[in-house]
Amino acid sequence: MAAIRSRRSSNALMAPHVLVVPYPAQGHMIPLLDLAGHLASRGLRLTVVATPATAALLAPLLTAQSSNGTGKVSALVLPFPSHPALPAGVESARDSPPTLFAALIVAFAGLRGPLGSWARERSDTPDRVAAILADHSCGWAQPLAAELGIPGIVFSPSGVYGSAVLHSLFRRAPRRDDETDDESLVGFPDLPGSPAFPWRQLSLLYRTYKEGDDVSEGVRRNFLWNLEGSAFVSNTFRRLEERYLRAPLADLGLRRVLAVGPVAPEPDGAGERGGETAVSAAELCAWLDRFPEDGSVVYISFGSMAVLQPPHAAALAAALERTGVSFVWAAGPTAPLPDGFEARMASAADRGIVIRGWAPQVAALRHRAVGWFVTHCGWNSVLEAVAAGVAMLTWPMTADQFVNARLLVDELGAAVPVSWGGLKATPDADDVARVLDAAIGVSGGRRRGDVAARAKELAAEAAAAVGEGGDSWRELEELVRELASQPRTIAGSDISI
Ligand code: UDP
Repeated sequence: MAAIRSRRSSNALMAPHVLVVPYPAQGHMIPLLDLAGHLASRGLRLTVVATPATAALLAPLLTAQSSNGTGKVSALVLPFPSHPALPAGVESARDSPPTLFAALIVAFAGLRGPLGSWARERSDTPDRVAAILADHSCGWAQPLAAELGIPGIVFSPSGVYGSAVLHSLFRRAPRRDDETDDESLVGFPDLPGSPAFPWRQLSLLYRTYKEGDDVSEGVRRNFLWNLEGSAFVSNTFRRLEERYLRAPLADLGLRRVLAVGPVAPEPDGAGERGGETAVSAAELCAWLDRFPEDGSVVYISFGSMAVLQPPHAAALAAALERTGVSFVWAAGPTAPLPDGFEARMASAADRGIVIRGWAPQVAALRHRAVGWFVTHCGWNSVLEAVAAGVAMLTWPMTADQFVNARLLVDELGAAVPVSWGGLKATPDADDVARVLDAAIGVSGGRRRGDVAARAKELAAEAAAAVGEGGDSWRELEELVRELASQPRTIAGSDISI
């Protein structure tokens, strides 16, 4: 895509200045920072908001943009707002239990005032903010944009289906038929195909919503504000979620959706994306190089926040031992793996690696030896696997993960379920072993070649979407045009291109 060109000399016309507001959770920050990289390299000037706890995550973006000479990204680090519902020191989803996620959303909204003042101080300067691009957990940025008289654009870290489900819940506030029954179905008549999900599979944010409660109402307002934004940008692509993108979702109030994904950079550009890795991408890839057969290793991760429950970890570890499947398990620093498991795996040649800390996930998924991914179905992981042509073994736990798993298994045919039980149930280790075996085990005959082939097709479609002229490429260009067309100040006068 051509960079935005001015009709005057580049000194006279400053690139449009966009305020980017990520939400402090890795699964939210990573894709919005990826998108910010795309916007900056297309000529926009960005200020990205962070707090002391999240500022380090901006480093790869700031370095990439200054080293490629554009230097258009700056960080604005503000103190995390205090809030009575949030214990002092909790400043990101990573260091808080899921029960505090609602309070975190409401507390973070305290940035609305300081950001408004910051933007107003610049309103008559060349630094004037032309638009706000904010994560969907920062819905308050939409009324802030309206107050400032500039467009507000919502970034969804979920897919369109997942976003539609979440916003439908907060818009309609449906209750379950039987308040004691977690299996009670909640229908979504406002979505294509009118899906229904058991109560326990809905986002915890919604399940803990209590009418009249301050924090609950703050969260609800947050998501309703998103529906006032001028566009909704999602890390997805047309061919992946055609059914949900084709319907305008107007009933829901999602007026216009721009599908710009997958936004993750090539592994070379992924660097220390999301955190300092416990093992370098080069070391991990060198280990994977030993596997001559393409697609013969399974990658396992349950995302940036989920700590696997001990019985779940035990079932998965036992299944891996039983099948003899080779694996990379990005277990995080605290996953409760069974005693002796890591030592046994370390002593068996070419069996498996357990990564205790942050893993270079994109590099691992892009390695030709990795063919399957046991995943909790966080949307970033899904898109990263899709882009890499890696088939998924789904084990959703919470948030939008059940919606994503249904899309992958039932609609796209690019995944096989491990468990639908989420946090409530533990699958039998033998059942997990059977799933692994059918997918990737030599003794299982790799019977799920159809699913692996479908994953490769999706990867080709993802590559076409982001390639020049592809659907996501065009929608990203539309987003850049929209952000760039806002009036800008030059020597005291407003101009636009
Ligand atoms: N991730 C990573 N290394 C890890 C764990 C996670 O790079 O050890 C990245 C992963 O590639 C993805 C994000 O963190 O980009 C996790 O987002 P996702 O939506 O999959 O799940 P969440 O963490 O939000 O539940």
